[in-house]
Amino acid sequence: MEDFEGKLIIFTAPSGAGKTTIVHHLLDSFPQLAFSISATSRAKRPTESEGHDYYFIPSGRFKELIAQEAFLEWEEVYENQYYGTLKEEVERIWKEGKHVVFDIDVMGAMTLKRKFPERTLSIFVKPPSRIALTKRLRDRRTETPEQLEDRIRKADEELRFENQFDMVLVNDVLSRALQEAEAIVSKFLGIKR
Ligand code: ADP
Ligand code: 5GP
Repeated sequence: MEDFEGKLIIFTAPSGAGKTTIVHHLLDSFPQLAFSISATSRAKRPTESEGHDYYFIPSGRFKELIAQEAFLEWEEVYENQYYGTLKEEVERIWKEGKHVVFDIDVMGAMTLKRKFPERTLSIFVKPPSRIALTKRLRDRRTETPEQLEDRIRKADEELRFENQFDMVLVNDVLSRALQEAEAIVSKFLGIKR
């Protein structure tokens, strides 16, 4: 354990591309991995729970934590909706001897890659088309119509960043994307399966 060097595996993509689905699958498949639970000031969805999907923090408290430099990275991903990776969270996981998996936006992903260039693998999850992305977001039914418009607008910006990452994983047929994700992670961690 002494010489354990924790790695970072970052999944980034426009909202609705399938990051969460892929990350959950990898966490079920690789006991070596643990999820970096982000802090967010957005409201909890009915399917989510505190300390599992996110640490839900009111925006006032979130701003205090920014001032205290508690975050490795943070972004105002949507207007007045803050998201960030707590330094403590990543340290906790590495202390457990696990590698950290992130589901974060493109700006946050680039920040983390810059901070830990040697031990980070950054993967951009790409939807097969803008139409497919819009349909997935609508069908997920987690956003109001206004929030949905915001997310689709932002997705158009984020899709321009794909060449900033180590790998692009197209999530068209889900079973294939999951297999590819497993292969990418196995190779990065040097695991024979
Ligand atoms: P993200 O975390 O990137 O916002 P999600 O993992 O929540 O995306 O996926 C968005 C929606 O699309 C979810 O309802 C999910 O079940 C669905 N989905 C994910 N991957 C696929 C796929 N390859 N084909 C069809 N639907 C998908
Ligand atoms: P959602 O509200 O759908 O859970 O997430 C919205 C966006 O915020 C997604 O692109 C997600 O990856 C991103 N996000 C989640 N946690 C973090 C974080 O800690 N930092 C950053 N920069 N983005 C995050």
